[in-house]
Amino acid sequence: MSRRDFVLSELGLTPLWVRPERITRSMAAASAETGQPGPQPVAQAVPQPVAMEPAPLQPTMRSAADAVRSAIADAAPALRPPLAATSPNPAPATRGAPVQQVKLVIGEGARAERIASLDWQALQREVAGCTACGLCQTRTQTVFGVGNPQAELLVVGEAPGAEEDRQGEPFVGAAGKLLDNLLAAIGEKRGERVFIANVLKCRPPGNRNPQAEEVLQCAPFLARQIALIRPRLIFAVGRFAIQTLLQTEAPVGALRGKVHEVDGIPVVVGYHPAYLLRNLPDKARAWHDLLLVEDQLTQLAGKQG
Ligand code: SF4
Repeated sequence: MSRRDFVLSELGLTPLWVRPERITRSMAAASAETGQPGPQPVAQAVPQPVAMEPAPLQPTMRSAADAVRSAIADAAPALRPPLAATSPNPAPATRGAPVQQVKLVIGEGARAERIASLDWQALQREVAGCTACGLCQTRTQTVFGVGNPQAELLVVGEAPGAEEDRQGEPFVGAAGKLLDNLLAAIGEKRGERVFIANVLKCRPPGNRNPQAEEVLQCAPFLARQIALIRPRLIFAVGRFAIQTLLQTEAPVGALRGKVHEVDGIPVVVGYHPAYLLRNLPDKARAWHDLLLVEDQLTQLAGKQG
């Protein structure tokens, strides 16, 4: 592999993300074949995660986070899905700061209680016909999620975009391809041990930020998906999904590199693939997030046998 190809590969500008150690091995093999010294691994120059100063939330994000906190405060214990009481997942290992433990937002009232009792098929039907918020008027179709209902890894993003709205599947198009490549880099694949969903099941017009009321109405669906799937690990990508799940206004940079916990399920956070497509330097940090996901899945699989 030429130095140019290697650098491009390290920056993620290849069809498939490849583990750095595999690249290093292939470089060594190529060097041995040619008798020429190979380039030095760029991985040594990859920037490490750095603490970032908190950035003020946009008004819609702040109102959504406030609504989330309010919903948690108001939620009666009886409304919580079974997952909250009897999670099979052990306490996760931590890196750096202490684990943040939060309760899952499940919405409020009789509707949320009814959704919390649905099985998988009934939940799919309920989402498909949902008119609980104004997004039903502008969507082409709902986007329930895709993958294995008994997945070990649940990837949670923000909301469907234009292409997802057209196809009815989350994370398609360029961002979806990057997500698939990221998952492939740690040996995971959409539809095998992975389920992919969004916080919102309908596309906000013009890809605007979700509004607090939309999050409140849609939250019971994600809560029920999590309760039914019972994944070993949740990988939340993008600021909105992360802040909604963890009920915090902290920036992504301050939440990365740690294992959080929602209703007893370990949560690792990372950048949204669409953001990574626009911010090349953060791909190196995204790789560290993926390694934490892989590390946690391995640890949790060992603990659970
Ligand atoms: S975004 Fe969620 S709550 Fe709103 S209409 Fe779609 S499925 Fe229903």
